[in-house]
Amino acid sequence: MGSAVRFRNVTLRYGTVCALDRVNLEIADGEFFGILGPSGSGKTSCLRLIAGFEQPTSGTIELHDRSTETVPPYDRDVNTVFQDYALFAHMTVEQNVAYGLMVKGVGRPERRSRVIAMLEMVRLEGFGSRRPSELSGGQRQRVALARALVNRPSVLLLDEPLGALDLKLRQQMQVELRSLQRKLGITFIFVTHDQGEALSMSDRLAVFNEGEIEQVGTPREIYERPTTRFAAEFVGDSNIVDRRGTAAAGALEGLFSLRPEKVRVSAAEPEAGQGVIAAAGQVVDVQFHGATVRYVVSLPEGATMTAVIGNRGSHADAPPVATGASVWLAWDPSDMHRLGGLERT
Ligand code: ADP
Ligand code: MG
Repeated sequence: MGSAVRFRNVTLRYGTVCALDRVNLEIADGEFFGILGPSGSGKTSCLRLIAGFEQPTSGTIELHDRSTETVPPYDRDVNTVFQDYALFAHMTVEQNVAYGLMVKGVGRPERRSRVIAMLEMVRLEGFGSRRPSELSGGQRQRVALARALVNRPSVLLLDEPLGALDLKLRQQMQVELRSLQRKLGITFIFVTHDQGEALSMSDRLAVFNEGEIEQVGTPREIYERPTTRFAAEFVGDSNIVDRRGTAAAGALEGLFSLRPEKVRVSAAEPEAGQGVIAAAGQVVDVQFHGATVRYVVSLPEGATMTAVIGNRGSHADAPPVATGASVWLAWDPSDMHRLGGLERT
């Protein structure tokens, strides 16, 4: 598969602010690629560079293996869906969607048929003569999507496109965006600060932190084998197990991530099975989440560990383990993942 976007050692500074610091990244043709990170981590800057609204301070960006250095935004095979939709309020839905084609000089009959096909694709047939103010948030989002896709870009950039929608609509649009991307087969680069959204939607994703990439991989790779403390804590819940300087630790010396659902809770001391690690502690909090129950357990050395147990069986009346109880925690060493760190300079 070819490469749609490649960053080679890209740095972007706004004055003294370093928005991106020596970023290397390759996004394949046809991928649904997630860019995940907290506010200010450089996500939007990344998209603005791809779209050509910014130029790298140093490093190069390639689109389909060609340097973009001299290519202005309107000559890039890229369109953007902005978080605030940026629709033209005085134009109808149809005029909004047709706008890009008009600017390109596409004739009226073709324009019309492409706009109608696109409105159908985003399930807005019959809404063509409305104005944005006469639409719901989700419908406006679809107009913005249609307006970007009608130009048939090979790369679509989406900057937190679902941020303004309520939870149900957001989940519905997540499914729709995925199926639209599969149907069209073009590259989607999807920015979000929501780790659940990034995990569930992306083929692969990059975790950004302070202008640097902490980890790139499939959702499963990043969740199951986080390589940095930031990635482990930003994507899902994580216990950080500190076994630095423990003489007995041997091969298991260092800093590790351990997902809460990999930790077992029992009242009785677990059998010292092959390689199982066990620790005694006291339950300091039990949080009922419906589908799962979360136990916060304090360990003798002052550390706390979280265990998440699926709500199987009938615990309707009382949790199997109550706050204050003494319990044993047990987990497999293979579920501990050694964390490196980015050297920040
Ligand atoms: P994100 O989209 O992840 O929230 P941005 O890419 O917007 O992050 O911003 C990255 C950093 O660059 C932040 O520190 C932000 O304040 C700064 N920044 C973004 N745009 C500008 C600008 N036009 N001028 C100065 N600083 C900016
Ligand atoms: Mg942003």
